[in-house]
Amino acid sequence: MSTAAELTVDADAVARNTRLFAERAHGHLMAVLKADAFGHGDLARVATDNGASWLGTTSLADAHDLRERAPGTPILSWLNPVDADWGGAVVAGIDVAVPTAEHLHAVSRAAAAAGGIARIHLHIDLGINRDGAARSDWAALCELAALHERTSGRVRVVGIMGHLSSADAPSSPENARERMLFDNAVRVARARGLRPVVRHLAASAATLTQPEALYDLSRVGAGLYGIDPSRTTSLHSALTLTAPIVSVKRVGAGAGVGYAHTWSTSRPTSLALLPVGYGDGLPRTASGRAWVQVRGRRRPVVGLFSMDQVVVDVGDDPVMAGETATVFGPGDHGEPTVREWADWSGTIDHAIVVGIGARVTRRTVGLAEVSA
Ligand SMILES: *Cc1c(COP(=O)(O)O)cnc(C)c1O
Repeated sequence: MSTAAELTVDADAVARNTRLFAERAHGHLMAVLKADAFGHGDLARVATDNGASWLGTTSLADAHDLRERAPGTPILSWLNPVDADWGGAVVAGIDVAVPTAEHLHAVSRAAAAAGGIARIHLHIDLGINRDGAARSDWAALCELAALHERTSGRVRVVGIMGHLSSADAPSSPENARERMLFDNAVRVARARGLRPVVRHLAASAATLTQPEALYDLSRVGAGLYGIDPSRTTSLHSALTLTAPIVSVKRVGAGAGVGYAHTWSTSRPTSLALLPVGYGDGLPRTASGRAWVQVRGRRRPVVGLFSMDQVVVDVGDDPVMAGETATVFGPGDHGEPTVREWADWSGTIDHAIVVGIGARVTRRTVGLAEVSA
């Protein structure tokens, strides 16, 4: 069921960002399309047409979707439980990351059953203490992978991957420390007889700020969507969220608005109702801070956000039901941006863009529209 709110995705913006990152990565760019391309929808074709030579995502389910949309493009899936369908990945030609010995055994067994060879990327945790092999397990994991390569021959280690914990802060000494640990990890792998050809470490921030972190491939997500976690580079924001004004109500001074009356009018004013709320991804923590744009002017969202609706104080403007409000956009015309919504709600841009809910209609304009 639609709210009639609409999220417009500007494929040209994504294309421009993709080309910028492809250049920074010297042509070795993996477009990270996880979480439905950070909530932007199907962008596989836009990515590959504009310089991405690999596609990457977390789950194998996502990777199979990408495989259908981008036949022939290398795809990596890096976050899966031990009992994932590794055989399906082998058959579909999807590379998988391997973080533990259990994963390695399962992948090797499944590849044998499928009658194929799994292309794997050994994944090391360099200090984020999240996904990837513990450093204390790394040498043993490499040893085991080399053994599998030599004996069953059902796996081939094509890549080594790591992920920086602190790339958003380019001057943090943690970056150099983790790069050194990555170099060591590659040396250990080679010493165990592995011949990885694709070493990859950098995501968006490091691709923009750490030339030493580029190696053979950069895995870029946020940057493709106009989000620069390093805040060093001007990118193109791709999303515009609009909502229709459902009704406008004239009220006097002292009228409490919304649940618990956390805000009241201080003068006679008009209140416009938008059919989007925290159920559509507008964070409730932005209540009392957020603005939208109506008739070219910024107007405050007042009272607590509801699940399905928010109220906007439009003052004495003769705003009418049926007009459109802009919740956020690239900011070129004075409308609020994703960055501002993130600040108002105490989160990061990523969480705003992936949080826009399923009730909001998606529309892609630009390149993809043209080539569809
Ligand atoms: C999400 C993710 C990326 C992409 O990071 P961005 O900062 O969005 O570019 C790269 N690698 C891994 C392992 C990830 O989880």
